[in-house]
Amino acid sequence: MSYLFESFKGWKEYCHKNDMSLFECVLEYERDQKGNDDDAIWNGLSRAYSVMKDAVNTGLTEEMTSRSEMINNGAKKVFNHSTTVLSKEFQKLISRALAAKEVNSCMGRIVAAPTAGASGILPGTLYTLQEIHGLEDKKIYEGLLIGAGIALIIEQRASLAGAVGGCQAETGSAAAMASGAIVYCLGGSVDQIFNAVAITIQCMLGLICDPVAGLVEVPCVVRNASAAAIANSSAQIAIANVSGVIPVDECIEAMGEVGQSMEDRYKETALGGLAATKTGQQISKKI
Ligand code: SF4
Repeated sequence: MSYLFESFKGWKEYCHKNDMSLFECVLEYERDQKGNDDDAIWNGLSRAYSVMKDAVNTGLTEEMTSRSEMINNGAKKVFNHSTTVLSKEFQKLISRALAAKEVNSCMGRIVAAPTAGASGILPGTLYTLQEIHGLEDKKIYEGLLIGAGIALIIEQRASLAGAVGGCQAETGSAAAMASGAIVYCLGGSVDQIFNAVAITIQCMLGLICDPVAGLVEVPCVVRNASAAAIANSSAQIAIANVSGVIPVDECIEAMGEVGQSMEDRYKETALGGLAATKTGQQISKKI
């Protein structure tokens, strides 16, 4: 019987007891619970990462204007701009997260990791991480498995859907997955990986879901960029052993509690937040 991903504490204990790494636990879950063999799992991860990279490249090279025209080739403008705010790598990270999400808003092919609304965060992060550190594909696939384990627990204890838990559940969860994957890929310990998740959730907690005109475009696309930045900042903090103080399981509990108490107008109904602004309403009527 494989581990069922109910808590981070349980995941760590199971790994310790069975002398397994975090990703091996997710592999075992995929085998036992989903009936997949190892080849199918690794091939699936390879395909998923390939689609993620394609989405980044498509968003940076092809015409990306959504039907509403709220999304209009933003990623390319960021990628090519002559002013670099922090570093070239940061500029690439942000533009890649935007690019993959723009592909989704323009009805292209993406990996919903964990949802379509948050589909730019893992691609932007992993693509850039691999490029900077020269990581093997296999390491990235293992990082994706770590991300999957993180998402399984969040799904159990809080939610992955904006309609249930607000945007913290979508872009927040994707950022947590990415942050854990970064720390894993850079050789971090289990505690550092889980601390990165805790810090990421702390940074994303309370974020509402308020898509203008009910379209997954504004603010969704820019939130993919900020979530990618938070995933990286959290990983940087965690890998230096700076504690998030509140343990990861308690952070996820807080996320669930905040999601439950959030008013319905902040849960994908397009009735509150940015969707309810004067401009948001005007766009909604026009569309
Ligand atoms: S605002 Fe809502 S629809 Fe947009 S990414 Fe966040 S959760 Fe998804």
